[in-house]
This record gives sequence, structure tokens and C-alpha cells, in this order.
Amino acid sequence: MQQVKAYGAKDKNADLKEMTIKRRELIDTDVQIDILYCGVCHSDIHAKNNDWGNAKYPIVPGHEIIGKVTEAGAKVSKFKVGDIVGVGCMVDSCQTCSACEDDLEQFCENGMTGTYNGKDRIGGAESDHTFGGYSSSITVNEKFVLSIPKNLDLRAAAPLLCAGITTFSPLNHWKIKKGDKVGVVGLGGLGHMGIKFAAAMGAETIMITTSPGKAEDAKRLGAHGVLISKNAGEMKEHQGTFDFILNTVPVKHDINPYLSLLKRDSTMCMVGAIEPLEPMHGGSLILGRKRVAGSLIGGMKETQEMLNFCGEHNIVCDIEMINMDEINTAFERVQGNDVKYRFVIDMKSLKN
Ligand code: NAP
Ligand code: ZN
Repeated sequence: MQQVKAYGAKDKNADLKEMTIKRRELIDTDVQIDILYCGVCHSDIHAKNNDWGNAKYPIVPGHEIIGKVTEAGAKVSKFKVGDIVGVGCMVDSCQTCSACEDDLEQFCENGMTGTYNGKDRIGGAESDHTFGGYSSSITVNEKFVLSIPKNLDLRAAAPLLCAGITTFSPLNHWKIKKGDKVGVVGLGGLGHMGIKFAAAMGAETIMITTSPGKAEDAKRLGAHGVLISKNAGEMKEHQGTFDFILNTVPVKHDINPYLSLLKRDSTMCMVGAIEPLEPMHGGSLILGRKRVAGSLIGGMKETQEMLNFCGEHNIVCDIEMINMDEINTAFERVQGNDVKYRFVIDMKSLKN
């Protein structure tokens, strides 16, 4: 067992505080990673607050991890000591079910192992509860470790491991191409990456936002247009014109107005709110053969493809760096819609 310094919450009402966690010893197929940077995802806040009803405390969040390999097990073939690597939302899966065989480990039929608040399949630590990247090091099966293209700024690359893949995957799955009109709802951590990816894929990309003050930023990030969702007149102008909409709103909301923006036979993919939504009118789908779909992060193969795409197109996230002891304020600011557009923790600040 290894003792590792971390930052976590003892219960939903507690602030995150420094604590010591125990991780399993390295096994043959593992790499040990010294964590350099970790992004702050809105999911970290949902998990800490037990919004999904499955929290097991203490929770040490963090699934946008960039670090350096400090040790590699005897059977590790992809990485060596000194490599710069990434870890996202999963650290294991059964690797035998049909989803895993199809490179869709996020949908593992036996349950993927979440980077935090998951159940470690290997065991050997004090408990089999997994702890995330708000910590100084992590031990992970090499299959769930990613290579980071050398040209990317490592701090700004960290959120690619969740915000990046969560937005890249649906755009990739629905084969977004040049000439498509794509809407991205919500300009936060996920949304700002949705804009960058959709634009890089050649789509006419429209930011759909509740915040008129973000219009300038949306354009700087690559949006060709901005649609203020609270403005009924503007929404009407764009009615029936979108080939695809990516909805990143993190909370319960009315999706009917967004569905009215879709063309016949088009899809809106939900990646944000994992909770009951406000009632959807059947007519919003029936009149136009429209679809509402969902998407969860992405498999390991696709995550590496996304990172390589970022390397080729020089895509990283817009970030604000923080020290570990600023995390509770950062959580408040994310909930107050006050982040441009992702906090990243400099993990040096935990070690010193
Ligand atoms: P975030 O940084 O807080 O951004 C969310 C954005 O949604 C806000 O900036 C805001 O943008 C908009 N918004 C907030 N409340 C709204 C409301 N009531 N109505 C309409 N728009 C609203 O969050 P994030 O980190 O991007 O995460 C977004 C959600 O995705 C979270 O729920 C997270 O748990 C989830 N998530 C899912 C996956 C997956 O695999 N499916 C992966 C990671 C995260 P505007 O100001 O532009 O309106
Ligand atoms: Zn996340």
C-alpha cells in the first residue's frame, strides 16, 4: 500500500481538505504517475455534492489528469519512466464484454471503474474505493493511460481528458462534417471544447448560450455565430436549421426550445444533465422525425484519437490555473457560471 497526499471531502457538506489516501502497490500492468496538473470538471462538484446519489466518502475528485510516469510494471509495453501521460474518467473495465471488445469501455457491461468514487477491480489498498487526480500520484492499468502529443501545453491539455473527449465523441459519432450547422448549448468547460472541435471539423458552429456576455468569447473560440437562448425572436429565426445540437447544460431544463431548432431527421445529443429533465413534448420529436440522444465520455481508443486530433490541430482548453487550496472557491465559481472556461490545479501546490 502506498500513502498518497490528496484533497478530498468527507461528506457532501464538507469543504475539500488535505488528507492522506492509500493506493494499491503497482502490479505488472500498471504505471505509476506523478500528477502534474488536474482539471476541475463540473462532474467533480456533482460527485462531491452527491447529486447522483451514489457518492461514497471520502471523495477525492479529479479525472482530467496529466502527469509523468515514475514507475512501470514488468508487463507495461506502451510507456516508460519519464513519459508524459494522461488519465481521464476511467481507470479500468472488465475488458471482455462486447462493449469493451468494441473499444467502448465507458459502456462496459460489467461496469467501468471510475477514476474516483469507483470500485477498484484489483484491490490491495485499504479499501477498493478509487480516488481521483486531486492527489500527488495515481496508479493505473496502462490500457487506461494516454499519450499526450508533444506540441500541446500540458496545463491546457489536462481538461481534454474529460471535457475534450465528451464533446469530441458525439461530434465524431454523428460524423459532423464541413457544411453541417452545429449548435453547442452552454459555454462552460464542455461547451468551449464543443465549439473548438465542431469548428475544426468544418461545421458552421453556433454557440447557443444564456449569457449574452459570452458572445465575444464564443467567436474567439471559433463560433461563427451566437444565439441567445433566452431571446425568443432569435430562437425563432434559427428554427428548423440545425443538423446537430450538442447540449452540455448541467442541470434540469426545458429542451423543447432547442429541439425546435433542429432540421427534420436531426439529433440533439445530451451530455450534461444526468437527472430528470423537464417534460418533453412528443410533438417536438414527432413533427420532424427528430431524435434526442446521449453520450458518455468516450472509449480509450477514441480518447487517444481525440488527443491526436488536438495535436494535429493545436487544440487545447482555455484555462485558469489555481493552487490546490483554492479548490473550494473554484467549486463555488463553477456553480456560479464564473469560469473561463476550465480551472486546472497545479499539483505542485499540494506537494509543497
Ligand atoms: P460548466 O463549466 O458549469 O458549464 C455549463 C454551462 O451550461 C454554463 O457555463 C452555462 O453556459 C450553461 N448553463 C448552466 N446552467 C444552465 C441552465 N439552467 N440553463 C441553460 N444553460 C445553463 O459545466 P461542464 O464542466 O461543462 O459540465 C457540463 C455538464 O456535463 C455537467 O453536468 C457535467 O457533470 C456533465 N459531464 C458529462 C459528461 C459525459 O460523459 N456525458 C462528461 C463530463 C461532464 P451559458 O452561460 O453559455 O448558458
Ligand atoms: Zn468530467
